[in-house]
Amino acid sequence: MSLPLSDRSLSALPKAHLHLHFTGSMRHRTVLELADEQGIRLPESLTVDWPPTLSAADEKGWFRFQRLYDIARSVVRSEAAVRRLVREAAEDDAAEGSRWLELQVDPSGYASPFGGITAFVDLVLDAARAASGDTGVEVRLVIAANRTRHPLDARTLARLAAQYAGRGVVGFGLSNDERRGDALSFAKAFQIAERAGLLAVPHGGELRGPDSVWSCLHGLKARRLGHGVRSVEDPQLVAHLAEAGVTLEVCPSSNVSLGLFGSLADVPVRQLFDAGVPISLAADDPLLFGSRLLTQYEAARTIYGFGDDHLAELARMSVRGSAAPDDVRRELLAGIDTWLASPPRVSAEGAADQHGLGLQLDAEARQHTGADLGGERQQVRR
Ligand SMILES: [Zn+2]
Repeated sequence: MSLPLSDRSLSALPKAHLHLHFTGSMRHRTVLELADEQGIRLPESLTVDWPPTLSAADEKGWFRFQRLYDIARSVVRSEAAVRRLVREAAEDDAAEGSRWLELQVDPSGYASPFGGITAFVDLVLDAARAASGDTGVEVRLVIAANRTRHPLDARTLARLAAQYAGRGVVGFGLSNDERRGDALSFAKAFQIAERAGLLAVPHGGELRGPDSVWSCLHGLKARRLGHGVRSVEDPQLVAHLAEAGVTLEVCPSSNVSLGLFGSLADVPVRQLFDAGVPISLAADDPLLFGSRLLTQYEAARTIYGFGDDHLAELARMSVRGSAAPDDVRRELLAGIDTWLASPPRVSAEGAADQHGLGLQLDAEARQHTGADLGGERQQVRR
C-alpha cells in the first residue's frame, strides 16, 4: 500500500468523539493514583503489565475484561474522582482535536456510592458542564443499559435518560456482552428513549455478526451502532447502512485488543468507507486498550491509507453522526474545511518522513495514555 504523502496535524483536525465509556476513559495514571489513595490493590494487568492482554473470543475472555472494568470502576467512589474523570476525558479529547464528546455511562454501576442513579447522573452532568467550560470540548452523555441485565432495568434507565433529554443527555445505548440478551427484548426501553428525542445508539455487530445488527436496526431503531464492524459480512446490510446513513462507531484498537481481528490492518475500515457507510472513529476504553482517539485517526492514515481528504471526510462523518446541534455542526464542519485547505506540513517528497511521523505520533499517543509510568507502577505494586 502506498503511504499518503501529506501530514497535516491530525490533532488539529476538528472532530467529534462518539464512543467513549466513562470508566474506560480513565487515564492509566488516574486509576493508579485513585487506587493508591484508597488502598485498593490493583491486579498486575492494570499496573506493571498495563495495558492488559485481553480476548473476547469466549465468555471467559469477556468475563476477564469485565472483571478489570469492575475493578477500575471500584476506584471511583467520590465526587472529586467523578469530576476528575470527566475533566481529564475532556482534556485528553481537547488535545486530540475533539470538540464534541458523547461520553457513555451506565449509572447502575455507580448507584451505591453516590446515593442512587439519579444523583450520580446529576453529578456527571454537572462535571460535564464544568469540563466543557474549562476545555472547549462540549461533553454530553449517552446513558447505556446493560444487555446482561433484565430488560426492566433498561426501561428504568431509559426513563432516567428521558428526564434529562435536552439537559445534557443526548442518547440511549446498550452495552456489554452482545452474545447475551436479545436486542429485541430491549425494544420497550428504546421506545421510551426515542419518544424523548434521544438517539438510539446500541452496541451491535461487535461480538456477533449481521443478524445482531439487523435486530438493532429493526428492533431498536438504531441511528448509530457501537462498533458494527461485522456488518461487513453481509453485503446487503452494508448497502443498507450506506443508504440509510447509519453511522458505525468504529474503534479499531478496541477490536484488536479484544481479539475480534488479528491486527489493525484486518479491521474493515477501508472496506466500509469505500462502500459509503458513515464511520466515526472512536477509542471505546483507552484505560483497557492503551490508546486514545488520535491513534485511531493515525491508523486511518498509516494503515488504511487515508489521504487528508478522506481523513477530513472521516471527521465530517463523526460530526454528522453526532447529536450536536446545528450551530456546533456548522462550526466543526467549517473547521474541517479550513484544516483541509491549510498547507500540508510536508510536501510530496516527504514520503520518507512518514516513518518519523509515525514514531512521533506513537510517542504522543503514549504520552496521552500515560504509558510511561514506571515510577508510579512501583509505588502501587505492593
Ligand atoms: Zn463500547
